[in-house]
This record gives sequence, structure tokens and C-alpha cells, in this order.
Amino acid sequence: MEIESLKLRKILNSRANYTVEAEINGVKASAPSGASTGTHEAKCFVPKHLDEVEKLLKKLEGKDLTQEEFDTKLRELDGTEDFSRIGAAAIATSFAFKKASGFKTKNKFPLPLSNVIGGGEHGGNTSIQEFLILPINAETFPEAIETNRKIYQELKKRYKQKIMGINDEGALITSMNDEQTLKALEKVAEKYDAGIGLDIAASEFYEDGKYKMSSMRSSMTPEHQFKFVKKITERFDLVYVEDPFDQEDFKMHAKLTREFPDVMICGDDLFTTNVERLHTGIEQSSCNSLIIKPNQIGTVTEALATVDLARQADYTPVVSHRSGETCDTTISNLAVEWECPVIKAGLADIRTAKLNQLMRLWDRSENPELMF
Ligand code: PEP
Ligand code: MG
Repeated sequence: MEIESLKLRKILNSRANYTVEAEINGVKASAPSGASTGTHEAKCFVPKHLDEVEKLLKKLEGKDLTQEEFDTKLRELDGTEDFSRIGAAAIATSFAFKKASGFKTKNKFPLPLSNVIGGGEHGGNTSIQEFLILPINAETFPEAIETNRKIYQELKKRYKQKIMGINDEGALITSMNDEQTLKALEKVAEKYDAGIGLDIAASEFYEDGKYKMSSMRSSMTPEHQFKFVKKITERFDLVYVEDPFDQEDFKMHAKLTREFPDVMICGDDLFTTNVERLHTGIEQSSCNSLIIKPNQIGTVTEALATVDLARQADYTPVVSHRSGETCDTTISNLAVEWECPVIKAGLADIRTAKLNQLMRLWDRSENPELMF
């Protein structure tokens, strides 16, 4: 695609912080941002002198490039390993280039994994960051959305007295601790035939060799944390467990994967959408699934390379939003184009933008089907 024009600007995200919006050939896209970020992620900040970064990237105007060539140029112009020079401008422009070049339409759709009760870094009473539902028995995308919607609404009604608000991802904040939340969710998920998942985001409460869950008043060694995760996975029949251990502990993730080969054991902070880290995981058989957040690596091309490697190694790729979002819907189209079986995109507030885009794509598709 020939780049006729490229612009950058600051816009607001869902946390009322600034993020970068890029506009290429009149097509806009913006960068998401995380709160529970992994140590090995690309830097995703708003550059102080955005006008200078824009000037740098404007060198690409007039060039006719493929996505891969464009993303390579971004790497060259930035000149650092982790985009610490152009920050959020990398993924914003990479998304905008992809959007302006067009997505491939497919008829296979991801299953929505929805965060309904939350805590940790996203705000809430629990140390576990996300209590998720996966509508495993849905036969269509609208049916899957309807299941998740009904669960969210019923939770709001049933636990009205315990609900204190909503957090960064539109998930409910309650007065319950982690185990009470699991019990409460179990009742409602069972009624609607959905599976329960967790994003434990354990790196956020791993300190001095101990997992310190303040909500449970517990402090556990890695072995104790393993037993705790094993216990709740069995007791609540979990279908999905994300980041149960620290982001450097490939071994413990492998141990849990051996114990539960049929549960999706998913690495987010562990892999950070990074091919090298995924290679390490594959060598050690850590996890059988991974989160794909394009801004963790900085470009669409590199995120796709990670998806390709995951597929070769039989790891299930889960395309994911970030806790700081805009109404950008690039990841919805990417999940379809890349044939990823699951998308983690929240359920309420600004998160509906991604799900509604998938509803539209489903509606326009000739013979759509769910991949999961
Ligand atoms: C996550 O940890 O999966 C997540 C979406 O949160 P954040 O964007 O804060 O990393
Ligand atoms: Mg996560």
C-alpha cells in the first residue's frame, strides 16, 4: 500500500489517560495500554515530543510498502529493542497501516472470553485480576454474547448488595474475596452452561519468593501456590487459567500444564506475545495457550509471527484487549483474519466496541461458524 499521508495525535483512553492515535491515508487506529504489564513487553507510552516522532515517521510518506516492510521500517526508525523511542506510536501506526490496507474476511469466529468480576491492578477486592466466563456450549457468536450478557446481568441482580462498582475493564467490583467470588460465579455460570476461567495475573502479587494474596490474607511459596491453583481448578472445573505463576517461572507453568492437559493454561506476562519467549515455553512445555496482545510486541507483523509459531506448536492463541482501551476495533478483525479460537475483550462499557465489530462481521458473513 502506498502511504499518502501519516499523522499522529494524542487522544484519551478509557482511563482518562492519553494514548496515541495514528491516521494513515485517512484511516485511524489507536494504541491500547496495560496496567498489569509484563516485564518483557515493548514500551507503550505517549512520547513527550509526539511532533518529533511524527516527523520521523512521516519519512515513510510516499513509500509503497507491505505490512512487513512497514513494520520493519518502524523498527529501524525507532532503533531500540523495545520501542522505547517511539512508544505507543509503533502499534498505533502498525494498526492504522493494517486497517488501511484491509483485512481478509473469513467465516470462522472466535469465542468471547468475558471478564465479569475483577480485582487486582484493574481495581477490586480480589487479588485475582479477572473472573472470566467462556460460553463453551454456544453454537453461534450472537448466542455466545447472549450467554455472557445474561451471566453479567444476573450477577448484577443476584449480588446487588455486594456490588461496589465497576473496574477498569467494566467488570464488577464486589465485597467478596477470591474464593467467595468463585462460589458466587459458579452458581450463575452453571445455570447458563458456561465455563469459568481466571486471569490470576500472579506476577502482580509475587514478592520476595512468595505469592501474597492480600484479599485472602495469604502468603504462599511457589509450591503452595501450585496446590492452591490445582485445588481451585479441580473444585470449580476451570476451563481457562491465565498467568497462575510469576512471569519468569516457566517450570511451574509446565507442571500445571502436565497436571491439566485439557484445561487452557494460558501465558500472558509469561510470553508477552514474543516469539523468543514462546520458543522457551515450547521447549519446556509451559502452557498450551497464550495471550496475543499486539502492543506487547509493538507491530502487527511480529504479533502474527507469534500466532504462527503458537499454531505450529499447538498452543491456542487468545487475542486480547488491554485494560486501557479506546473504541479501536483492530483486534476484532485480526482475531478473525488470524483464525484465533478465542478473544478476550471484556463485556461492558467501552469494551462493547470490539464485540459489536464481531457481531457486524458475523452478520455480514455467508456461513459463519465458531472456531472453538
Ligand atoms: C491482562 O492481564 O490480561 C490484561 C488485559 O490486563 P492489562 O492490559 O492491564 O495487562
Ligand atoms: Mg493477563
